Amino acid sequence: LGKSSGVGESRILVFVRLRPMAKKEKEAGSRCCVRIVNRRDVYLTEFANDNDYLRLKRLRGRHFTFDASFPDTTSQQEVYSTTTAELVEAVLQGRNGSVFCYGATGAGKTYTMLGTLENPGVMVLAIKDLFSKVRQRSCDGNHVVHLSYLEVYNETVRDLLSPGRPLVLREDKQGIVAAGLTQYRAYSTDEVMALLQQGNRNRTTEPTRANETSSRSHAILQVVVQYRVRDGTMNVVNRVGKLSLIDLAGSERALATDQRTLRSLEGANINRSLLALSSCINALVEGKKHIPYRNSKLTQLLKDSLGGACNTVMIANISPSNLSFGETQNTLHWADRAKEI
Ligand code: ADP
Ligand code: MG
Repeated sequence: LGKSSGVGESRILVFVRLRPMAKKEKEAGSRCCVRIVNRRDVYLTEFANDNDYLRLKRLRGRHFTFDASFPDTTSQQEVYSTTTAELVEAVLQGRNGSVFCYGATGAGKTYTMLGTLENPGVMVLAIKDLFSKVRQRSCDGNHVVHLSYLEVYNETVRDLLSPGRPLVLREDKQGIVAAGLTQYRAYSTDEVMALLQQGNRNRTTEPTRANETSSRSHAILQVVVQYRVRDGTMNVVNRVGKLSLIDLAGSERALATDQRTLRSLEGANINRSLLALSSCINALVEGKKHIPYRNSKLTQLLKDSLGGACNTVMIANISPSNLSFGETQNTLHWADRAKEI
């Protein structure tokens, strides 16, 4: 992975995942405008309608490079191994880590994070790997694993494992927590997939798009591992590591890579949490002392998982179709910027 950091160094690792062309996109006669070379380089081509022949003509191209870029044939397992496996190891050493999927609606975020029963995604593969590593490490049941799964929708926090009234954020000695959030004690992988699928069905859907998973809700799975070790003086100490896996809201209406654009978007009916996340990332990129975590529910909840001494991974999801050119370009710009942290 070239300059990719090992566990312990704090830099955002940025990956891009291209999904396969969808049937609908093919039927609409769309062309592929993204090419991935050497598992790193992304070439984006803009096409224009050539009026004489009603054909698409190549206009110009752009090139980006990331820690790794995944072509549309990449398996879920490979995406997991390259992006998240190291974080699972870090969490087992008592550190925090987080993985975000970012991109427009339909670009493949939920597929990457949750996946399907046949092709489980990062959330499920991470938990599976965690349990297998825990089993290798201890036969005395020393490690305790708790899961919580919540949603931020319209600046309201909801428990996806036991849906009900909105949760209130409180500050305690561990940081900011959602009061009353279910902490599900997990013993094996088998129970987890069903649990997460059910949780995902509990995500808020928009009234106007009744059958679709909402494009404006953020889903956050947190996996907390507690265990005991003996320190240098043979005293027993408790350690805690936390992995946060985040399926972000669709980025199509909140794309901005500079403060001015971000400010002009505020007040418009745009996802506040996503804007706030962009602002925090901008502030981190610019090396600012003050990071505006307080601006949204999402950034408050993830305060201990962004910047500082934690391991952060971004997976930017993109569609290959030229019909999504604008969104893809914006996503790649955003990801390119996040690389600088
Ligand atoms: P998002 O969550 O970003 O809105 P989805 O993950 O729901 O997008 O993906 C949109 C559609 O594309 C879904 O039907 C999904 O199953 C499919 N899809 C996304 N990524 C892949 C992939 N890598 N391989 C196969 N199908 C995919
Ligand atoms: Mg989704």
